[in-house]
Amino acid sequence: MDSQNTVVPIRIGSGHDRHRLVPGRPLILGGVTIPYEQGLDGHSDADVLLHAITDALLGALALGDIGEWFPNTDPQWAQAASDQFVLAAAKAVRERGWSIGNLDCTVHAERPKLSSFKAEIAARIAALLQIPRDQVSVKAKTGERVGPIGRGEAIDADVVVLLYREPSPT
Ligand code: MG
Repeated sequence: MDSQNTVVPIRIGSGHDRHRLVPGRPLILGGVTIPYEQGLDGHSDADVLLHAITDALLGALALGDIGEWFPNTDPQWAQAASDQFVLAAAKAVRERGWSIGNLDCTVHAERPKLSSFKAEIAARIAALLQIPRDQVSVKAKTGERVGPIGRGEAIDADVVVLLYREPSPT
């Protein structure tokens, strides 16, 4: 039996990602380029927030993870804009009859300070997913100067997403 067609018509997904901060790369978070002296290292554009969103969308429907869908050994994803990962995951969600309810996102970065970028990032994500702006939350935290986040060595992102569908007629 396909449980996605039964029981309560909601699903929850979580996503987490981490990328190292290195010199000589742009810093892109949620599709927004943030002025900073370092950027995130990775095979694609290393947008840690869009990667976590992709994993949350895939996870909500038990569709695997971003590494299975877009292997970082595949040259076609080298320097790729991570928008396409989110769009592919959102398409997979919608093709299975699900709608995106809301996302709650947390970015963990000691520097740069992200408070002035949160609204723009949330608006960018809402536009990408074609959902209302008030269904996307973007929060920012520091690492309290301890650990890899606190020392400014990496940026993490955590995302929770809720999916819903109209109940099947009985
Ligand atoms: Mg990643």
